[in-house]
Amino acid sequence: MDEEGPSIFSLIINGEIPCHRVYEDDLVFAFLDINPFSPGHTLVVPKEPARTLEKLSSESSQAIGAVLPRISQAVLKATGTKEFNVLQNNGPNAFQSVFHVHFHIIPKYEDGRGLSWPFKSSPIDHEEGARIASEIREHLI
Ligand code: 5GP
Repeated sequence: MDEEGPSIFSLIINGEIPCHRVYEDDLVFAFLDINPFSPGHTLVVPKEPARTLEKLSSESSQAIGAVLPRISQAVLKATGTKEFNVLQNNGPNAFQSVFHVHFHIIPKYEDGRGLSWPFKSSPIDHEEGARIASEIREHLI
């Protein structure tokens, strides 16, 4: 959702904007991405208009988690692929462009079509890692 009203995904869920729908239940809606990384690129969206994942209710989180593997399996079968990525962006600097939680299911084809891996990593700093892991554990209590 943006400041002016419902997100584009809420309009799609409500049928006000057309889409290639692949799945719907009481809490979840899934449809093909309009600008796919590869054929079959699917977006799985909670009907609840939370902007980012950490704000999503437990009920919607459980509903999405329950159907993601099932929809992934159907995408693989429909596209004849065996591999895929699940991508989930939160915040503009983390490449989110639609501010309504969504999971991308992106088939990876043997010819290379699909997501490529542009991300950089470096070996963990164990002192910093121990501190952050401890803080995460505290916040989960
Ligand atoms: P994000 O960058 O927020 O993780 O991904 C948003 C995705 O939504 C993009 O891949 C974009 O192509 C897709 N998208 C944006 N607008 C529409 C639309 O109107 N219809 C559909 N089907 N997909 C959309």
